[in-house]
Amino acid sequence: MMNSENAMITIDSSTVLRDRIKLWKQEGYRIAFVPTMGNLHAGHLSLLERCRQHDNTGKLKLVVSIFVNPMQFGENEDFDSYPRTIDADTRVLAENNVDLLFVPQATEIYPDGLQAATRVMPAPLIGDILEGEHRPGFFTGVATVVAILFNIVQPDVACFGEKDYQQLLVIRHLVADLALPVEIISVPIVREADGLAMSSRNQYLSEAERAQAGKLNVCLQHLIEDVMQGTETNFAVIHTTQELEANDFTVDYVVIRRQSDLGVPEPGDNQLVALVAAWLDGTRLIDNMCFEINA
Ligand code: AMP
Repeated sequence: MMNSENAMITIDSSTVLRDRIKLWKQEGYRIAFVPTMGNLHAGHLSLLERCRQHDNTGKLKLVVSIFVNPMQFGENEDFDSYPRTIDADTRVLAENNVDLLFVPQATEIYPDGLQAATRVMPAPLIGDILEGEHRPGFFTGVATVVAILFNIVQPDVACFGEKDYQQLLVIRHLVADLALPVEIISVPIVREADGLAMSSRNQYLSEAERAQAGKLNVCLQHLIEDVMQGTETNFAVIHTTQELEANDFTVDYVVIRRQSDLGVPEPGDNQLVALVAAWLDGTRLIDNMCFEINA
């Protein structure tokens, strides 16, 4: 049983949130922040855990936001159907000793409406490739909302999942390029027993699709094994695409890229990442794995 001193506070107003954060900072607390779109699972909880590990002073307040950000959804995407489970999420966060839950309405984040909002556009080199190519405007939506949330919450540290590898790079750029005083910590992918990366979107899968979905990671591992054994990259990618298609996936992309900037590897680059995005019927899944080759 928690006493009232430890009880989680839920706030929907930026002004009220700012006042609370200011107070905590005056009391010497550091602020750790985990932005989410809710429908929480073990992947999200590992971010909370990582934030907690960051603190060795006992003077850390953990803030989580739940906001399904309309700016990062394309017109034909799943904004309306995205799972919203705020009651269950609130319970889970309170049980996990989160100090503050921020649940803004869209008008709080975009006071003059979405169309009138100033946007933060990542450089095309990172923002318009891979996910950005298949979901135009997605990373502008992400960078904009993260910049706004950072300005409201003013965290010292924020945790993001490697599940969204390109998003992580976009956010590292955002913080470096706009000189935002926030330390970004990345957290490894949490997976289901069959290798499927946990995601709120997994619940769109039918039972048969769910049984198939773990193959995405299996195929990604085959790709990495092929490349590490010296198979030429383009050849290995074609082979993996075929393997995915044979397992009912429709492939958006399968690539091997440099970990540092998602550029196409050049001779001598040995820190690599394999990334995939593919559909199982109407559900789009992404995954990635980092690996190293002998250059
Ligand atoms: P979302 O609610 O999907 O926007 O995700 C919020 C944060 O949780 C992002 O930083 C994600 O990268 C992270 N995340 C989502 N799924 C996972 C996972 N399976 N493992 C680790 N982090 C995750």
